[in-house]
Amino acid sequence: PGDYDVVIVGGGSGGIAAAASLLKRRPSLAIAIVEPAETHYYQPGFTLVGAGVFTPETTRRPMASVMPSRAKWVKQAVAEFAPDSNEVVLADGSRLRYRALVASPGIKLDWEAIPGLVETLGKNGVTSNYRADLAPYTHQLATSLQKGRALFTQPPMPIKCAGAPQKAMYLSCDTWRRAGVLSNIEVEFHNAGAVLFGVPAYVPALMKYVERYGINLCFESKLVAVDGAAKVATFEEKDADGNKQRVEREFAMLHAVPPQKAPEFIATSPLAGETGFIAVDPTTLRHTRYPNIFALGDGVATTNAKTAAAARKQAPVIAINVLSVLDGKQPHVGYDGYGSCPLTVERGKIVLAEFGYGGKLLPSFPGWLIDGTKPSRAAWFLKERLLPPIYWNMMLEGQEWLCAPHMLETSSQPAE
Ligand code: FAD
Repeated sequence: PGDYDVVIVGGGSGGIAAAASLLKRRPSLAIAIVEPAETHYYQPGFTLVGAGVFTPETTRRPMASVMPSRAKWVKQAVAEFAPDSNEVVLADGSRLRYRALVASPGIKLDWEAIPGLVETLGKNGVTSNYRADLAPYTHQLATSLQKGRALFTQPPMPIKCAGAPQKAMYLSCDTWRRAGVLSNIEVEFHNAGAVLFGVPAYVPALMKYVERYGINLCFESKLVAVDGAAKVATFEEKDADGNKQRVEREFAMLHAVPPQKAPEFIATSPLAGETGFIAVDPTTLRHTRYPNIFALGDGVATTNAKTAAAARKQAPVIAINVLSVLDGKQPHVGYDGYGSCPLTVERGKIVLAEFGYGGKLLPSFPGWLIDGTKPSRAAWFLKERLLPPIYWNMMLEGQEWLCAPHMLETSSQPAE
């Protein structure tokens, strides 16, 4: 308990990156990071654990090891926000006062929303790369399955890394193709949404793999129940007249992605917007009502792809604008909505989706090196070899020469 220049809520990708970025710019800042978890996860690695490319150990580190040494780690959960008195209330009832608040609370995986799912995860052929401890089971199932039906599901948006449900599918299909058993396996993709991927430029490349693997696409089909023992999944679909109907599918393997929503302590707080996520200006990332509150990562109500890549670009924007506000000035840099989704279409090749607000393509590389709309070996190399050290050693350490924020026109700044 005490007074800080900046209190950061959440020690995940966004929280640690923002703290590191702030301290790099102003080492004298008194910063507290409120984070109850012992372990920090590199979640983008879960897909490759599910494919047997990474070991689970490479995706996790002790939280203590990623905490910036100059920040104070408050090992508790935030229970409530009291923005009018510039305080957060912790689980034990104590309070922290701040001059500026940065929230990066992540998104809640709502496993319980699917009756029967929690009980059967990790057995009966039911798995999910969305849980660190289950990703190895995905690999185990993919390498042992010889025949039968494999179901892959995607819940309604918003979800983190919207490509991850199909990444798990393509990599499993590739395993079956290499083992020569793909023709014995009936693969279905049940997507609660209406399109394969939200940005059309990447769809043709993905469709080639859908055809190559013989995947049956079922759009507007939402997983609503699982009977693990009977190996039956129930989906809600629409019939020809648009009426909802329930369809049961037997399976040998089910890769389920849970519905996702704003964490409860955010949704019920004064920080929440209509959807329960934190209401911020999409460019400055400043809260729409509280001028000394900023937020980044999966927990904000912006329309960018919820990815660690987005948090990497948001962190310096937050840091510069927070310092500006601490100095009595206006935010003066902006975020363009950049997010990235490396779609692992086969072992060794990736369709590297990189885009900003409105689906605008924002490639990081010249087309001759990586053309994001085509499967590429260079993009796989990036994902497997370069992005993990970029995450641990650069993003979490405030080394951000790859992420220059754009300057805002001073004329567009509202007066204080
Ligand atoms: P997180 O990193 O989830 O951190 C949130 C933190 O808040 C946690 O540490 C949590 O303990 C803490 N917290 C929760 N409640 C409280 C509380 N009450 N008080 C204090 N702290 C609290 N991104 C990519 O860029 N590329 C990819 O290829 C990619 N693939 C993915 C694949 C999978 C299977 C998954 C699950 C995610 C993937 N992502 C990917 C997404 C990426 O991991 C997230 O977008 C990123 O971690 C978001 O950062 P965050 O800080 O918002 O949330």
